[in-house]
This record gives sequence, C-alpha cells and structure tokens, in this order.
Amino acid sequence: MGKHTVLKNILQDARSESKHWVADRHHNHDIWLHWTVNERCNLNCIYCDSHGNPLKKRGRNPEIDIPALIRNLEGSGKTYKIRFTGGGEPFLVPGIIEACIEITKKHYVGFNTNLTCGNIREFARKIDPERVVNVNASLHIEELERLNLIERVIDNFLFCKERGISIVASVVAYPALLHNVEKYKSLFERKGIKINFSYFMGIYDNKEYPRSYTEEEIVRFDLNRDWLNKHYSYRGLCNAGYNAAMVDHDGNIFPCEGRRKTIGNIYRGFKFNESLMACPVNHCTCPLKQFDPYLFKRALRENSSIVKKMVPMIKCAKSYVKAEFAKRRFRL
Ligand code: SF4
Repeated sequence: MGKHTVLKNILQDARSESKHWVADRHHNHDIWLHWTVNERCNLNCIYCDSHGNPLKKRGRNPEIDIPALIRNLEGSGKTYKIRFTGGGEPFLVPGIIEACIEITKKHYVGFNTNLTCGNIREFARKIDPERVVNVNASLHIEELERLNLIERVIDNFLFCKERGISIVASVVAYPALLHNVEKYKSLFERKGIKINFSYFMGIYDNKEYPRSYTEEEIVRFDLNRDWLNKHYSYRGLCNAGYNAAMVDHDGNIFPCEGRRKTIGNIYRGFKFNESLMACPVNHCTCPLKQFDPYLFKRALRENSSIVKKMVPMIKCAKSYVKAEFAKRRFRL
C-alpha cells in the first residue's frame, strides 16, 4: 500500500460520518466522553453480552457525583460532549436528569438508550434540545414485544421528536430477525419512525458476526458496507485519548477498549494525551474516530506536522495485521 493510499484512508475515515445515521446535531464540542455509566438494565436481550446474567437486575448503578463532575469539566476550560451509554440502561441511573440539567448549562449530552424508562419524558421536557447532540434509541424488538413495551417506546420516541430532540432508532441486525425485517420496518414506519440496522458482534448459530453476514442479510438489513469492511482491518491513526475517551462506572477515564491505561478520573481529575497516535492493537471493534469523525478531523488538523511522519509506521502495521489475519485464515 502506497503512502498516498494510507493518507487517502485516513481522510476517508474522517469523512465517513455523513454516511451514518447516528450523526451529531452540531459540532460545538472539543472533547467526547463516552460514559458507560452503569451495569443495570431492565431488559434481557438475547444478543446482549450479559444476557441471563443476574448482574442485569442487580449490577452497579452508581449515582453521579454532580458537583465533582462539573468541577472537573469546568477546570479544563473545554466544551464536552458526554454520551451516556451502558453496560446497562443509562436512564436507570439515579439523578441522571439532574446531571443532564447541570451538564447542559455549558456542555452537551447524548444517549444510547432502550427508551423504555419512565423518566424519558422528563428528560425531553427539561433539557434544551439544542444541547442534546442526539439520542440513539436502540429498539430491542423481541424483548419489547415480550414485555409489552412497544407502545411505550413509540410514545417516548415521538415525544422526544416533538420536543425537538435529534433522535434516531436502531435495531441490532441479529440474524434471527431476518424473517421479520419488513414487518418491523412497517410497524415503526406507520408511526413515522424509520429504523436502521446496526451490525451484530458475537456468535450466532456457531458463526462469528459480523464476518458471517450473507449478501442477503447485508442487503435486507441494509448494513453499512464501509463499516463492515473496516471491521477486521487495522485502524491506523486514532484520536482516542487525545480528544475522545471512554469512562467506566467508577468514573475512570481511559482512551478506548483497546487501550485501558487510565488517563484520570472524571471526579478526581484527568489529562488527555498531547498528540494523536497510531492504534496499538490489531483489531478494534469500537473505533472512536469512526463515531465522531468531526473530532478525528480536528485532531488531524491539530497534528498535521506529525501525521505524514507516521505514515510509514502505519503502512508497516497494516501489512503486519493483514499477514496475521491471513495466517489465521480470517477474511478481510
Ligand atoms: S483500539 Fe480502536 S479506539 Fe483504540 S486506538 Fe485503536 S482504533 Fe482507536
């Protein structure tokens, strides 16, 4: 792979947001914190990592220390996007609305949520929609049917939309759902809700996904081919730890799933890296740059003097990973 191809791929990563349905309402933030805020969940989806695990109902669900959080955000002088996600269901966290009220006085919030909780309407009533970058409502349809929660989720979705919140609906493209794709699409479309399928990562029928999606599944679920193609390739330069990072239930901040060395704590102080870097792992399933290309592009601009110097290193790593995957007969 030539130097130009490597640079072209870096820029392609930086452009890919416009092709994806979860896009930020606007880009007023300097830093993104992706906060896995609890373990507890009120659903028990078959494809969830913790399906059937008692921790779902009794797992950690810590209250947010709002004064300490705000003190640390303000201390850095930056504007943050805090995206609450789980582990569990973030709207179950005690005081989540109060935390959002305080955060959104200066910063921005976003959610990955199953949209079933009783406080969604309170959130939509109290939070300025301009301060919500987006809500990704993850519709776990079979579980919603089992618990008779479909109507509640539709009401919550439409209420958020009426209030001006940027909200999209997604469904995990679990292979067993294939026969019902059209039924589910029309069920929600009749209510004015477009559903998007996101690829499943895990084992189904003894096959590993997403590598095992058939052409028919890709077409009928309308999966993002770019993202599928990139799933097993080396990711190159990344801004994780530079202007994007993950936060765990205890508030510990670390660059990403692949780099778990902490860079601080959201309640006790943190310091981001001073430059972006080449990804140190062979295979990343959650590349932060892909989910916020705005910050990745910004990191490239701010590090333009070192990006070209890093290309030979990235070329080398790409060839190494390709060879490793080939040895293990992985399809790329
Ligand atoms: S593991 Fe993923 S998120 Fe982490 S540095 Fe590599 S590409 Fe970025």
